[in-house]
Parts: sequence; C-alpha cells; structure tokens
Amino acid sequence: MTAHSGRCLCGGVTFSLTEQPVGTRACWCRDCQYLCSGNASLSVFFRQRALTISGTTADYVSASDAGNLIRRRFCPACGTPLFSDALAEPEYLVVRLGALDNRDIGSPQSTIWTDSAPEWAWFDHDKPHFPQQPS
Ligand SMILES: [Zn+2]
Ligand SMILES: [Zn+2]
Repeated sequence: MTAHSGRCLCGGVTFSLTEQPVGTRACWCRDCQYLCSGNASLSVFFRQRALTISGTTADYVSASDAGNLIRRRFCPACGTPLFSDALAEPEYLVVRLGALDNRDIGSPQSTIWTDSAPEWAWFDHDKPHFPQQPS
C-alpha cells in the first residue's frame, strides 16, 4: 500500500513509498547548498525497501564533507534532486522533501552542518542542531 508518493518537476520520474519515514533532517553542508539554491536540504529518511521508482534516474557519487560516499539521484531531464544514500548504509534512503507530494511530513527533527550555513540562515535552536555531522 502506498504511504507516500512523489515526482520530479517534469514528471518523467515518479515514485511511491510503502512505509512511513523513520526521520527528518535539515542539512546545511556546502554540498546541499549547491543542490538547493543556497538553502539547506530537507531530507526525509525511509527504509530503502519501501521505495518503488518509475522512470530513469541519473546518479552522481561524491564524498561528503564527513568523508562518506554519497550517491545522489536526480531526474536527467529536469534536474530535480530526488534521492540520496550513503553507500556504506544501503538500508536507508533519503528522499528530498521537495519531490514528495506531502511536504507536511518534512518538518526537520534536527539540523546538521550549521557551521557551513551563511550568516542569515535560520534554523530551530530549540531542536537538536550540530555544527557538523553528528557521530
Ligand atoms: Zn524530471
Ligand atoms: Zn548536506
């Protein structure tokens, strides 16, 4: 049964998830700012087994600021960031909040890499926040 669904901007990639997310997080690392127009990325964590994709995605693998190899998947036609996962943790999947139909589920439970954020960045100081990647 579909719990959540989403798509890229052009509709060439659609996806569904059969489970509820296991967590949410905002990330201000420099890489996310490149991908999110200077803003933090909003990540919704699911188990990889919950995902079904329709359409073709393109991959880009790079080392994160914390040294983990991250595979980012996006639509090759419109460039919408869709998913990312750490190659060392194949059980978990990040879905980029903007691609989900229901963005109300994405309120971040924590914020990471606040040291890399620009001076004007806003994040919730009443929730857990970390200057870099928490261990
Ligand atoms: Zn697209
Ligand atoms: Zn990041």
